[in-house]
Amino acid sequence: MIEVKEVYFQYEGTEEEKKYALNGVNMTIKDGEFVAIVGHNGSGKSTLAKHFNSIYLPSTGDVIVDGMNTEDDEHLFDIRKKVGLVLQNPDNQIVAGIVEEDVAFGCENLGIPPKEIRERVDNALKAVDMYEYRTHSPDKLSGGQKQRVAIAGIIAMEPECIVLDEPTAMLDPQGRQEVISTVQKLNKERGITIILITHYMEEAVLADRVIMMDSGKVLTEGTPREVFAQVEMLKKHRLDVPQATELCYRLKGCGYEVPDCVLDENECAKALEKLLKRGAV
Ligand code: ADP
Ligand code: MG
Repeated sequence: MIEVKEVYFQYEGTEEEKKYALNGVNMTIKDGEFVAIVGHNGSGKSTLAKHFNSIYLPSTGDVIVDGMNTEDDEHLFDIRKKVGLVLQNPDNQIVAGIVEEDVAFGCENLGIPPKEIRERVDNALKAVDMYEYRTHSPDKLSGGQKQRVAIAGIIAMEPECIVLDEPTAMLDPQGRQEVISTVQKLNKERGITIILITHYMEEAVLADRVIMMDSGKVLTEGTPREVFAQVEMLKKHRLDVPQATELCYRLKGCGYEVPDCVLDENECAKALEKLLKRGAV
């Protein structure tokens, strides 16, 4: 679906410092995959996200979306249609005074006939469980609901891939849960490729693959279990692991017998249950 080949990117005005926001990034995102991208603030995640649909072009290197180079102007429209971007702050993404009008906005820009827009908007709102709010004003919605409306606006454009840049960062735990379940559903039920940028490791664990960025480069990648098993290395780079992973890692350090890489609360609870039953604790 997306190939990033040896991409370097420098913001204008930083020429003398020779500081690159992206420092030789290589990655391949497969069709239908759910990938999480994690890393410190300033590691280049948002800069990379904007390369996925031609908002930024590489200083050197290539980004190829479904065979199309993002640098070719003739593909711009098709690339934007294929790859939708959801940002952190839902308030900055909502443009209309009524939910359904907001969701229709992107489709109108694509020049889709009104009758088809109507259908797409209804379907998109149903997909994010916001259909009953279609005539409401977005102002009165919770953060999670607003973010789901923003996602509906993207779905209505029928992208093959949705890139979400820290979509849960401004939400409370319930809002985060709503958005993440919606994203998982779109991936599983509709086969939409998902690239989720997040600083919540508990969200990253839900992906098929985790890509860890550091200083504008890919530090490591693999299944969540492969990536988070490298606790020592991640700590050296001051990167987090899920809390359950951390707890079991520390228990292991104290000599307790726990499985190698525990990823979530359930696995952690099972490991603790075993220890307690054996009378080890
Ligand atoms: P992340 O999303 O991982 O926090 P960013 O992609 O936002 O990282 O930033 C990567 C680097 O690029 C940082 O050093 C940041 O300061 C710099 N940067 C980001 N946006 C701009 C900008 N508009 N102009 C200049 N430098 C920027
Ligand atoms: Mg960012």
